[in-house]
Amino acid sequence: MKLNRLRNFALFLMFVAFIIMYVSTLGKLSPATKFLIPIGLIIGILVALAAMFLYFRIGSISMRVPKVDCPHCGKTVKLLGESDNCPYCKKPLQMVKGENGKFVAKVVE
Ligand SMILES: [Zn+2]
Repeated sequence: MKLNRLRNFALFLMFVAFIIMYVSTLGKLSPATKFLIPIGLIIGILVALAAMFLYFRIGSISMRVPKVDCPHCGKTVKLLGESDNCPYCKKPLQMVKGENGKFVAKVVE
Protein backbone atom coordinates (compact mmCIF):
# COMPACT_ATOMS: atom_id res chain seq x y z
CA MET A 1 0.00 0.00 0.00
CA LYS A 2 3.10 2.17 -0.06
CA LEU A 3 2.43 2.96 -3.71
CA ASN A 4 -0.98 4.38 -2.91
CA ARG A 5 0.52 6.78 -0.42
CA LEU A 6 3.10 7.91 -3.02
CA ARG A 7 0.32 8.38 -5.56
CA ASN A 8 -1.61 10.56 -3.11
CA PHE A 9 1.52 12.60 -2.50
CA ALA A 10 1.98 13.14 -6.25
CA LEU A 11 -1.63 14.25 -6.54
CA PHE A 12 -1.13 16.62 -3.63
CA LEU A 13 1.98 18.07 -5.32
CA MET A 14 -0.07 18.64 -8.46
CA PHE A 15 -2.63 20.62 -6.44
CA VAL A 16 0.13 22.64 -4.80
CA ALA A 17 1.52 23.47 -8.26
CA PHE A 18 -1.85 24.74 -9.47
CA ILE A 19 -2.39 26.77 -6.31
CA ILE A 20 1.04 28.40 -6.68
CA MET A 21 0.30 29.27 -10.31
CA TYR A 22 -3.16 30.57 -9.49
CA VAL A 23 -1.94 32.70 -6.60
CA SER A 24 0.86 34.11 -8.73
CA THR A 25 -1.65 35.37 -11.30
CA LEU A 26 -3.19 37.49 -8.53
CA GLY A 27 0.07 39.47 -8.63
CA LYS A 28 -1.27 41.42 -11.60
CA LEU A 29 -3.68 43.25 -9.29
CA SER A 30 -0.95 45.63 -8.21
CA PRO A 31 2.10 46.89 -10.15
CA ALA A 32 4.26 46.27 -7.07
CA THR A 33 3.56 42.51 -7.13
CA LYS A 34 3.68 42.05 -10.90
CA PHE A 35 7.15 40.53 -10.74
CA LEU A 36 5.66 37.60 -8.79
CA ILE A 37 3.77 36.29 -11.82
CA PRO A 38 6.69 34.76 -13.78
CA ILE A 39 8.35 33.51 -10.58
CA GLY A 40 5.14 31.85 -9.43
CA LEU A 41 4.55 30.31 -12.86
CA ILE A 42 8.07 28.91 -13.03
CA ILE A 43 7.87 27.44 -9.52
CA GLY A 44 4.41 26.07 -10.29
CA ILE A 45 5.62 24.41 -13.49
CA LEU A 46 8.65 22.93 -11.69
CA VAL A 47 6.42 21.47 -8.96
CA ALA A 48 4.06 20.10 -11.62
CA LEU A 49 7.01 18.49 -13.42
CA ALA A 50 8.20 16.96 -10.13
CA ALA A 51 4.71 15.52 -9.59
CA MET A 52 4.69 14.06 -13.12
CA PHE A 53 8.15 12.57 -12.61
CA LEU A 54 6.86 10.97 -9.41
CA TYR A 55 3.88 9.54 -11.33
CA PHE A 56 6.24 7.96 -13.86
CA ARG A 57 8.35 6.51 -11.06
CA ILE A 58 5.26 5.03 -9.42
CA GLY A 59 4.23 3.60 -12.79
CA SER A 60 7.58 1.92 -13.34
CA ILE A 61 7.60 0.55 -9.80
CA SER A 62 4.15 -0.98 -10.21
CA MET A 63 5.30 -2.56 -13.49
CA ARG A 64 8.09 -4.33 -11.65
CA VAL A 65 5.82 -5.66 -8.91
CA PRO A 66 5.56 -9.42 -9.41
CA LYS A 67 2.22 -10.78 -10.54
CA VAL A 68 0.82 -13.74 -8.69
CA ASP A 69 -2.34 -15.79 -8.98
CA CYS A 70 -4.74 -15.39 -6.12
CA PRO A 71 -5.23 -18.89 -4.67
CA HIS A 72 -8.77 -18.03 -3.62
CA CYS A 73 -10.37 -16.55 -6.74
CA GLY A 74 -7.73 -17.54 -9.32
CA LYS A 75 -7.29 -14.02 -10.73
CA THR A 76 -3.86 -12.58 -11.48
CA VAL A 77 -3.12 -9.83 -8.99
CA LYS A 78 -0.29 -7.47 -8.19
CA LEU A 79 0.65 -7.51 -4.55
CA LEU A 80 2.59 -4.67 -2.99
CA GLY A 81 4.90 -5.71 -0.23
CA GLU A 82 4.86 -9.04 1.53
CA SER A 83 1.24 -9.03 2.49
CA ASP A 84 -1.68 -7.35 0.80
CA ASN A 85 -5.35 -7.96 0.14
CA CYS A 86 -6.59 -9.44 -3.11
CA PRO A 87 -8.29 -6.57 -4.98
CA TYR A 88 -10.99 -8.93 -6.25
CA CYS A 89 -12.00 -11.18 -3.37
CA LYS A 90 -10.44 -9.11 -0.52
CA LYS A 91 -8.74 -12.15 0.98
CA PRO A 92 -5.56 -11.31 2.92
CA LEU A 93 -2.68 -12.78 0.94
CA GLN A 94 0.93 -13.32 1.75
CA MET A 95 3.81 -13.53 -0.70
CA VAL A 96 5.87 -16.67 -0.37
CA LYS A 97 8.91 -17.52 -2.41
CA GLY A 98 8.40 -20.90 -3.97
CA GLU A 99 10.93 -23.26 -5.55
CA ASN A 100 12.49 -21.86 -8.76
CA GLY A 101 12.52 -18.41 -7.11
CA LYS A 102 9.05 -17.41 -8.26
CA PHE A 103 6.65 -15.77 -5.87
CA VAL A 104 3.38 -17.40 -5.03
CA ALA A 105 0.55 -16.06 -2.92
CA LYS A 106 -0.96 -17.81 0.05
CA VAL A 107 -4.19 -17.01 1.80
CA VAL A 108 -3.55 -15.89 5.36
CA GLU A 109 -5.90 -17.72 7.67
ZN1 LIG B 1 -8.64 -13.20 -4.89
